Amino acid sequence: MDDALLAGYVSSRMPGAGTLPDLDLGELSDSARETAEMRARTGRWAAWSESAARVGWCSHPLRLRGSSTTVNSGTGAVESFSSSQSPDGFVRVPCGNRRADKCPACSRVYARDTFELIRTGLLGGKQVPETVADNPLVFATMTAPSFGRVHGVRDGKRCRPRHDADACPHGRMQSCHAVHGSDDELVGAPLCWECYDSTSALVWQWHAPELWRRATIALRRAVAGHLGVTGSGLRKIATVQYAKVAEFQARGLVHFHALIRLDGPDGPGSPAPIDGLTLANLVKHAVLGVRVDAPPIDGADVPRVLRFGVQLDARTVRTGRPGDLIDDSRTSDELHAGQVAGYLAKYATKATSESGIPRPHLQRMERQCWVLSKRAYAADDESPYVLLGKWSRMLGFRGHFSTKSRAYSVTLGRLRAARRRFARLKAESDRSGVPLDVVDLEMRLLAEDETTLVVSSSWEFVGCGWGSGGEKELAEAAAARAREYARLRSELRNAG
Ligand SMILES: [Zn+2]
Ligand SMILES: [Zn+2]
Ligand SMILES: [Zn+2]
Repeated sequence: MDDALLAGYVSSRMPGAGTLPDLDLGELSDSARETAEMRARTGRWAAWSESAARVGWCSHPLRLRGSSTTVNSGTGAVESFSSSQSPDGFVRVPCGNRRADKCPACSRVYARDTFELIRTGLLGGKQVPETVADNPLVFATMTAPSFGRVHGVRDGKRCRPRHDADACPHGRMQSCHAVHGSDDELVGAPLCWECYDSTSALVWQWHAPELWRRATIALRRAVAGHLGVTGSGLRKIATVQYAKVAEFQARGLVHFHALIRLDGPDGPGSPAPIDGLTLANLVKHAVLGVRVDAPPIDGADVPRVLRFGVQLDARTVRTGRPGDLIDDSRTSDELHAGQVAGYLAKYATKATSESGIPRPHLQRMERQCWVLSKRAYAADDESPYVLLGKWSRMLGFRGHFSTKSRAYSVTLGRLRAARRRFARLKAESDRSGVPLDVVDLEMRLLAEDETTLVVSSSWEFVGCGWGSGGEKELAEAAAARAREYARLRSELRNAG
């Protein structure tokens, strides 16, 4: 319901057709202001603002031309929709980009969905039983190993204050007495690029998704071994479920943050045979034992054995024993379910570099991806590393930014389908004037079977983005306004 309310709020703050905009959108550039004023003069402001609201104030909506016919299998009603019905002759759909620096509006939807799917796996809801909160739960962070000394933020302390440090063979001091802030471009940069093993770092990143995959297999085996059963026997007494997000660190390598839950034989919420402390130990053991043998880039390179960094953090969030819900007596900081879900959702929308801070070493790693790709191609044009160039913008990381096991919780796909269904029901109710039937609404929105069947559909891609820079800016300003409103509303709700 939030989307509709927010869109309504933002449109109500937009000037009506024919009036000069009195935009409450903060600072706008001249071109954005001109666009808004021109639209208002020609009476097209309302139409534009409506189409922008419909794509959730996306920064780069896709423009499509075509038509589709659907039939409701329940009522048999047939509906046709064609882009020729819209004033522009095409329809816009949100770009769906997960990155906040690419599209603030879509990345927020992605973050909210990710938050929901992580939260429901922690606390239940959205058809996940609430007893899931009684299952043992571990929060693990898997890092990359070190590939050389880098500058870092040390909580107000100096970076690498060594007084007996020598210069490296390239003449660079192996110490740094500066105190770096997180917005310092040096953070994550090697003390000496030549000494830093960037080839190994990129080869590690290339194989990181495989390391993670093997870690999940190793963990299932470790749990089975602990319980004295085989892998297939494990399914009869417990299942390992997880939600994982990848987060780019300042040095340009990913960390994996994972919530790992042990369910009993009957799925989420059924009692598990071991507790959270044992599970944390099994996670540590399994993750640190995982290895991937990586072939060399070319004849001048060496084969590598890749592992996760030894700085593995695996904390018990919930023991799963009645009476002590959140506690690991060895750590004082409590992990709260809502906070964890919030952090993870935020990580999943981060780019290789937080927007606004140029980090020269990341650009250098991007170029290094191309160098290695060309070397691999020269040695063997079928080498998998040839594709490193294609993935250079991701610094060689090919994995997904958020993944989860099948039975962890609700899926992104179902959340998206639910949103589409809600939009359809809301539009129907707006058209007919009949208020939305809220009885069992969530259950109907999340229902597995789609009652609307697509009979025929043919769409062609016309282009992407708004018509002018001014329109993009207006959409983003409105999106920011909507976010601010959502924040105020939740503050009011919390206060009340
Ligand atoms: Zn977008
Ligand atoms: Zn430093
Ligand atoms: Zn050096």
